[in-house]
Amino acid sequence: METTVESTSEKKGLPAGIWVKCKKCDQVLLQKDFEENFMVCPKCGYYTRLRAHKRIEFTVDKGSFKEINADINTIDFLNFPGYSDKIKEFKINDAVVTGEAKINGYNVVIAVMDFEFMGGSMGSVVGEKIVRAIEKAIRKKYHLIIISASGGARMQEGIISLMQMAKTAAALAKLADSRLAYISILTDPTTGGVAASYAMLGDINIAEPKALIGFAGPRVIEQTIRQQLPEGFQLSEFLEKHGMLDIVAERKDMKDVLTKVLRFFNK
Ligand SMILES: [Zn+2]
Repeated sequence: METTVESTSEKKGLPAGIWVKCKKCDQVLLQKDFEENFMVCPKCGYYTRLRAHKRIEFTVDKGSFKEINADINTIDFLNFPGYSDKIKEFKINDAVVTGEAKINGYNVVIAVMDFEFMGGSMGSVVGEKIVRAIEKAIRKKYHLIIISASGGARMQEGIISLMQMAKTAAALAKLADSRLAYISILTDPTTGGVAASYAMLGDINIAEPKALIGFAGPRVIEQTIRQQLPEGFQLSEFLEKHGMLDIVAERKDMKDVLTKVLRFFNK
């Protein structure tokens, strides 16, 4: 898996975790300064992909996050070659972390995807945890936030992974029937079956700048429709301009944007 920031401290004999290097422009930064800038490179503006727990730390009120359904385990039910070994490498239970939290005092249920876990791919555990989070939001009458980062459906779970698209969409319809809001945040990258299901179903769809968002990749589309695609196609700004997204918000402003949206829905 690609990591966007690598530690350079070992080579220089400095204590680990103090320095980081931007993978895009090679700028060396203090870890502390980098985190204070929400892991966006101050020199080139590159958005480092965030692990789920880091994203939660940046998004919700300190100490307010209570994880739910952390104990749902991934099973290799198709005996897919290498899948069970791969699952064991990770210390978290699959590509989404869910829980209750507060954002500037507003109660929410939040689900945050983790791209480091098998490309944020959506399998049966991701689908189940998302659905349980939605059901929790309905029971508690809280609004829902899902922060997506995904390469799409998980091929190691075959058709079961594709079924999660319908399963999550059906649960979101129930949330809408309960007159609760669903705020979707799309981060780089949000593609495939996740973009084609819950990530694009928000009452408000928000994205980080320059995030790749789409169903199929540009090469596949060009070969299918036999036309050249416009510049910046499938990036947040293009999608916002063409009405596919409501807001493109910088990471440092995301909590404020969410607060405004929650204030609106709590009126
Ligand atoms: Zn940089």
